[in-house]
Amino acid sequence: MAQRLPIYMDYGSTTPLDRRVLDEMLPYFTDHFGNAGSRSHAFGWNAETAVNQARERVAGLLGAHPTEIVFTSGGTESCNLAVKGVAEMYAEQGRHVVTTAVEHRAVMDPCRHLERQGYEVTYLPVDATGLVDPERVEAAIRKDTVLVSVLLANNEIGTLTPIAEIGRICKAKKAIFHVDACLGLDTERVDVGEMGIDLASISGHKIYGPKGIGALYVRRRNPRVRLAPLIEGGGQERGMRHGTANVPGIVGLGKAADLCRELRDEDGARVRALREKMWAAFRGVDYTHLNGHPTLRLAGNLNVSFEFVEGESLILGANDVAISSGSACTSSTLEPSHVLRAIGVGEERVHTSIRFSFGRFTTEPEVDTAIASTLRTVEKLRDMSPLYEMVKEGIDLKTVQWTDHH
Ligand SMILES: *Cc1c(COP(=O)(O)O)cnc(C)c1O
Repeated sequence: MAQRLPIYMDYGSTTPLDRRVLDEMLPYFTDHFGNAGSRSHAFGWNAETAVNQARERVAGLLGAHPTEIVFTSGGTESCNLAVKGVAEMYAEQGRHVVTTAVEHRAVMDPCRHLERQGYEVTYLPVDATGLVDPERVEAAIRKDTVLVSVLLANNEIGTLTPIAEIGRICKAKKAIFHVDACLGLDTERVDVGEMGIDLASISGHKIYGPKGIGALYVRRRNPRVRLAPLIEGGGQERGMRHGTANVPGIVGLGKAADLCRELRDEDGARVRALREKMWAAFRGVDYTHLNGHPTLRLAGNLNVSFEFVEGESLILGANDVAISSGSACTSSTLEPSHVLRAIGVGEERVHTSIRFSFGRFTTEPEVDTAIASTLRTVEKLRDMSPLYEMVKEGIDLKTVQWTDHH
């Protein structure tokens, strides 16, 4: 069967919309266009019913109560609301936040913002696989710590955070615990009760839903978490996120969440097998490294470095596969990623990282094509690399005296 080219292997930056999600959304653009806040007629009631059903479905995915779900414009807004909302609301109890050095910019940048406002933020280091040590989290929490924020799955290197362990620590130390769960809910199980999560950020377009919609789980008891809103106005979403609800988007997010709950184990196992197949094909190539954790990693993420091959060159060369050099948000600047720096990837390898990310609609023939195309391109690029040639001849590059022409 002919494959549609290029093959999409960038699920970490966005996922295709599931057809079943679109089908449920469509009537809410046309016939059911009501404002979910209109209480005086059937148009409004109809929209409100749809929003409430979506709330139940999103809550169901997380083991939460529907009243604990706040709809937002996406993962970035959810993370901003969690970090800034807690910091502002609890400022009198303390002005210290604990997070890690490998967060998405949706958490990192709000933390930097807080620092400019006089808060203190501890950015915990991670090990060479991208794991944060829960004991370090415990040691970092002080009397004035109001929030601990970690991500569920790293968007660049795929490493999974030990959420339940950190949740227990936060409970014991009475710090509010936010998880940036934008990536991974389609293959990883998250239960806010079991894992001691107080806030969780969700993004529609990372779980086969539409772009521009997201949610924040906000715990209502033990403890009841309060938030200062970022956006003020008409009183929607229990005063935590004002503005007329994006009904079609919310309906889509609800359906996407429902599908994740239903398909999670199946998708997870299938996608993990595809990733393992790809890594099995790459790992035998000399001077090839896996970035991130070998086992505690997101099912659909494979981040590799082929030494002597620039990531950007590989992306251009293997142009029948849509891949990225890491995070879509920072790759445009060509700056070395803060995540690779944090896991101690050296200067010589920092520009070689390539992220393959796949999911629900990735097929095995697509993986085979991507493997063949990648290996072909790596070989071609290495054939042109004088450094690779020297290494093949047994020269230790560390002993070479380079002449500086500048
Ligand atoms: C995509 C992503 C976000 C941002 O979500 P948007 O809906 O794109 O704003 C935040 N955190 C992580 C880990 C992500 O992967």
